[in-house]
Amino acid sequence: MYDIQKIREDFPILQREVYGKPLIYLDNGATTQKPRCVVDAITEEYYSVNANVHRGVHFLSQQATELHEASRETVRKFLNAKSSNEIIFTRGTTESINLLVTSFGEEFMSEGDEVIVSVMEHHSNIVPWQMLAARKGISIKVIPMNDKGELLQDEYAKLFSDRTKIVAVTHVSNVLGTVNPVKEMIAVAHAHGVPVMVDGAQSVPHMKVDVRDLDADFYAFSGHKIYGPTGVGVLYGKEEWLDKLPPYQGGGEMIQTVSFEKTVFNELPFKFEAGTPDYIGTTALARALDYVSAIEMDHINAHERELTVYAMQQLKRIPDMRIFGEAENKDAVISFLVGNIHHLDMGTLLDRLGIAVRTGHHCAQPLMQRLGIEGTVRASFALYNTKEEVDALVAGIERVRKMF
Ligand code: PMP
Repeated sequence: MYDIQKIREDFPILQREVYGKPLIYLDNGATTQKPRCVVDAITEEYYSVNANVHRGVHFLSQQATELHEASRETVRKFLNAKSSNEIIFTRGTTESINLLVTSFGEEFMSEGDEVIVSVMEHHSNIVPWQMLAARKGISIKVIPMNDKGELLQDEYAKLFSDRTKIVAVTHVSNVLGTVNPVKEMIAVAHAHGVPVMVDGAQSVPHMKVDVRDLDADFYAFSGHKIYGPTGVGVLYGKEEWLDKLPPYQGGGEMIQTVSFEKTVFNELPFKFEAGTPDYIGTTALARALDYVSAIEMDHINAHERELTVYAMQQLKRIPDMRIFGEAENKDAVISFLVGNIHHLDMGTLLDRLGIAVRTGHHCAQPLMQRLGIEGTVRASFALYNTKEEVDALVAGIERVRKMF
């Protein structure tokens, strides 16, 4: 049974008030709140284990290294990767994508080559490609979508050419909530001999992701969006690909030997992890993954889907409501505008009622251009949100609407 009250008790922040009102936190797409066990993992390790990993013979260093590498194994299991060599720790999705773009672009792309992205990408899966385009003269092809917010698969298939080197697509849109059929899209790309990088920032927290079932070549996500700490993320890559890619950053950890004449790089996964990693953060991330695994991703998904369907029904009853993103397969994100009320005004007034939502372009300005708007109000759900909170959101919007 999904015991929502018990789950909520695990998150101390949910007990607090803002402006004298109980906090209703609906900005989970930006970041999630942390269960006590995750914060405890951080303090426990700082208080009793802390030492730099990989380099020490002493007891604490070895213990910290064991924790860090056990966390890598936890991530491997969570994604069902084949080997923990395929799990690269990064600062988050953004760094994971920058790593991939830089290393893959360096090794496999030259002037005139093409990357396929979608119109609903977050800036972090657009700008690094544009920077590569400026350096190397590659070009960026864009998969369009229909008005429901679904990528046009026929158009996608037509974008491939003999210059296509990689596809980089989000699994779930952080604005529309659309769950893209990445498994099928990967199969199409593979039929052309093209690898695929999936941005999993908005999928990993909400559904079971099996990188081997998807056959993804690369998969990126952020710890802080799945109840883990800030500053830690993951790039999964198939070992056969990662072996072929050059390092992203140079420094300690990523080398085997260094002389002024020649440096030999370390093996996977360390080749991509220059410098002291956030080993406390990786422990806490593993604790977060254990936490959601204990509840079970399928149960979390069912709860959030139910909440999303309910919220869509309730929101649509509000006069002048415009919802952006009505894909058949939609996850825990709802973007909307009401009449002529500016998204910022709506967000600010909801905040005064204790309701935290996000407003603006959500780092997806090309998508805003496609929708012909400047921004939206976005409510995004997590495992601890309730129908009562959705009701409060709906009542809050009604109140703001009547004020205008
Ligand atoms: N991609 C998507 C789809 C996102 O929603 C986000 C975060 N809003 C990112 C990438 C970037 O994640 P981070 O800021 O954690 O690197």
